[in-house]
Amino acid sequence: MAELVQQYLDQIRDEHAGDTEGAVADYIPELANADPTEFGLSLSSSDGFVYESGDAATEFTIQSISKPFTYALALDQVGQDVVDAKIGVEPSGEAFNEISVDDTTKRPKNPMINAGAIAAVSLVPGTTPDERFARIHEFYSRCAGRKLDIDHDVYASEKATGSRNRAIAYMLQSFGVLDGDPDEVLDVYFRQCSLRVTSTDLARMATTLARGGVNPCTGRRVTDSAVVQRTLSVMVTCGMYDAAGDWVSAVGMPAKSGVGGGIVAVLPGQLGIGVYSPLLDAKGNSVRGVRVCRSLSARLGLHFLTVTRESSSTIRARYDLCEGVRVYELHGDLLFAGAEQVLRTVENERGDYDVAILELSRIDDINGAARNMLAGLRTDLTAMNKEGFLVDPDHKVMPADTRQGHHAIVFDSLDDAVQVAKEFRAG
Ligand code: GLU
Repeated sequence: MAELVQQYLDQIRDEHAGDTEGAVADYIPELANADPTEFGLSLSSSDGFVYESGDAATEFTIQSISKPFTYALALDQVGQDVVDAKIGVEPSGEAFNEISVDDTTKRPKNPMINAGAIAAVSLVPGTTPDERFARIHEFYSRCAGRKLDIDHDVYASEKATGSRNRAIAYMLQSFGVLDGDPDEVLDVYFRQCSLRVTSTDLARMATTLARGGVNPCTGRRVTDSAVVQRTLSVMVTCGMYDAAGDWVSAVGMPAKSGVGGGIVAVLPGQLGIGVYSPLLDAKGNSVRGVRVCRSLSARLGLHFLTVTRESSSTIRARYDLCEGVRVYELHGDLLFAGAEQVLRTVENERGDYDVAILELSRIDDINGAARNMLAGLRTDLTAMNKEGFLVDPDHKVMPADTRQGHHAIVFDSLDDAVQVAKEFRAG
């Protein structure tokens, strides 16, 4: 199986290996020196298995791919309200380094353009630039699962030539978006852009986002799922410079590219992809990177809006344990739509039983909405002179602190539930 996937990857990479369109970034000499023939592709599964093809071990600077990660860190550290007060979430349709803010709010339009990214850096706590950078450096490293190094030459060049970013930072300061010294904030921004990654690091960082904030290799939680959800949202709408619409249509994965030649792409819940090829198109996206992502998405069916079928049934079995007592065994991940289906089925069949027992031991994951719906089932049933019990041996689906406010009755074993069901019928 692993070999088959490896073959797919090699084949798709090979198909684009001969593409030579585009040009390396040349606004600083260090980027202009990149080897245009290099082409690396990495894919990390959600359990941390990595497939690599081509120059997956070549290090290059992360550049703008840093933006979603610093945005995530800012959200993680100071919370969404504070971040939202300073940075919007609307696609700008402008070039990444446009000196612009929203006309009315004076906030940068989103965190994926330089104005928003510089504002995000300023929100990361730290009394000195070193302290702030240390937090950022550590956060990226935890996402990648290894300590990343900084490219000091790129950093020095970025700093020496960053007039446009300086203009942006001072503009933000004048609008009250940026607290503190703009040059200190920029120093951190230049350093974060100069961190070195490989396509495999990017695939792992992507998978950390795909897993809702848990690094696939270390198993450590780096941030929480609400932060990831917000970060992926802005990657969908604003990640690919001003080509975001085309990218979403053709590739359909939250992504971010950088002028170093990298692209990071996330398939939520499933996998992460990293690509490196330094030849850029006019918009600043890696030419082969975009093409290889298009091919991967089409051939492996990775578009996040692929709707192949209605969600598969969450009821894996239903049977009558004794007269009037019907058991429904649920399995898989239970979200709103699945829970709705379960409730509807159980209610439709209410003429067939007195007591319905939902057996939950095979549920892998459940969200708050589905949990509330299951917990509320009994209220509906008792209104119809029926009973409804839940069986949750591991207390995973219905931890004690989530039962408050509901009338749910939860048992540790099916036997216990059946016993009480019989008493209900007798009594
Ligand atoms: N350091 C670059 C800048 O801020 C990053 C550009 C990019 O990757 O888009 O101009």
